[in-house]
Amino acid sequence: MANNKPLKKVDLIFSEAFLNRDELKEVLSRSADEVIQELLDSGLRGRGGAGFPTGLKWKFTRDQKDPEKYVVCNADEGEPGTFKDREILDRVGRKVFNGMALCARTIGAKEGYLYLRGEYRFLLPKLYQILDEFHEDMKALGMDFHIDIKLGSGAYVCGEESALFESMQGDRGEPRNKPPYPTEYGFRGKPTVINNVETFVSALIINRIGAEKYQKLGTVDSRGSKLFSISGDTPIPGIYELELGMTVEQFVNEFGDGDTKAVQVGGAAGFCVPRKKFTDTIIGFEGVPTGGSMMLFNSSRSMYNVLHNYLDFFKEESCGQCTPCRVGCQQLFLGIEAVKRGEKPASYLETLLKLSQTMKITAKCGLGQSVGNSFHSIVNNFREEMIY
Ligand code: SF4
Repeated sequence: MANNKPLKKVDLIFSEAFLNRDELKEVLSRSADEVIQELLDSGLRGRGGAGFPTGLKWKFTRDQKDPEKYVVCNADEGEPGTFKDREILDRVGRKVFNGMALCARTIGAKEGYLYLRGEYRFLLPKLYQILDEFHEDMKALGMDFHIDIKLGSGAYVCGEESALFESMQGDRGEPRNKPPYPTEYGFRGKPTVINNVETFVSALIINRIGAEKYQKLGTVDSRGSKLFSISGDTPIPGIYELELGMTVEQFVNEFGDGDTKAVQVGGAAGFCVPRKKFTDTIIGFEGVPTGGSMMLFNSSRSMYNVLHNYLDFFKEESCGQCTPCRVGCQQLFLGIEAVKRGEKPASYLETLLKLSQTMKITAKCGLGQSVGNSFHSIVNNFREEMIY
């Protein structure tokens, strides 16, 4: 049955609340146990896309005996179609630093780092100014916590947490083998909480408004609200904070142009939802998860071109460390070109689908493992557009 319910718009992330020293002081007066329990009760899951429970991540790191620990904010917003962390840093950057301070107090860290995407260099003067005020407040509140900024250089794979640590350490930005996970072996080999920009802000908000209020939003698997970066064929592109748990149909009713044929949820690494599946696909961890990227395509778009563009991106961004991804990305790219030109039969798409499945199982990190998401969902749903 059609779901025409309007979406619930929320205003937590960009609100003016939780920005000043008094509010920070109040939230920092909570014990580590209280903070962690509040996060666990809220059901908050990382807003970068992977969705690991934030309370557990903070608890695992807090429980490590090593006295040298770090807080790292992942602001390497590189997923195609995502631009909401940029806005958070630009409009309410102080909230990000306050969220990092809350984390530092909870886990027992004295140093924090913001890993900023190289393309966001223009934000640096503003962020350093906010940091000056933040450090004054830290002093006034008697808290020994310092944040520095490290700049990325434009590699997509450095959004992967262990590659990000390598890059921060001045090494080549390549993913590490896991386990051990960052809660045990992160930056400089020390226990580290690494969260996305939006996650730190959400953790701060939850510890001000309370888990009970927060978890009234969303669904059992996807609690709360989150920011969405909306682009493509929509009359109203931009950034919106929405309650989680909506169907793609509800989303399209609000943001589509009346002719939406597909929505790419979660960027190039995410899933393509075709019109026939709008009604029963939920945007969230029980359906199609997203770090925030939502791209709409109308019937004027070639889904072959969309996929070709994604594969071109992946083959350029693969770090080349493992064979399934290094070779697989190239072969998928060349393979769909050969089918489209008629040099390979349409049945060759089956071979390519198997290859993308093999990559999912055998690639070392999320980049190679997720190429198959868009590949499968586009090839299977728009097969007629892939062939000669
Ligand atoms: Fe590098 Fe790709 Fe392997 Fe990840 S999956 S380690 S990006 S080659």
